[in-house]
Amino acid sequence: MNQTDTQCDDIQQAIAVNLKLSGPQLAHVDGCEHCQAVRSEFIRLDGLLAHSIESRVPAGFADRVMAQLPALSPYPRHGGDLINDRLLTVFSRSPLLQALLLGLGVALGVGHIVRFFLGLFITSMAAAL
Ligand SMILES: [Zn+2]
Repeated sequence: MNQTDTQCDDIQQAIAVNLKLSGPQLAHVDGCEHCQAVRSEFIRLDGLLAHSIESRVPAGFADRVMAQLPALSPYPRHGGDLINDRLLTVFSRSPLLQALLLGLGVALGVGHIVRFFLGLFITSMAAAL
């Protein structure tokens, strides 16, 4: 790859992300058929997009999309979902259950840590004997 290729790559990337080109870059584009072709394609593409994409979102569009989401869900709701919803509701409203679950998690975590260090200690003692 020579310097011209690198310069072409940099300029074409700048064109692709719509950066403002410097004076030397513009001079290069004027003399380089590859960069001119890329610039022409992006100008044409920008023109097509400007004419083909509606820039304003119709009123109520988001509400209509959100209303259709449950109907499009690949996971149909079952009776178990209702039970899960009720359990989650009860859990989210009960600080006692949350504290118990947190305590159980902490106890299990500490237990695993103690077990890990006991394992290290026992194996090192067994190796020393
Ligand atoms: Zn070029």
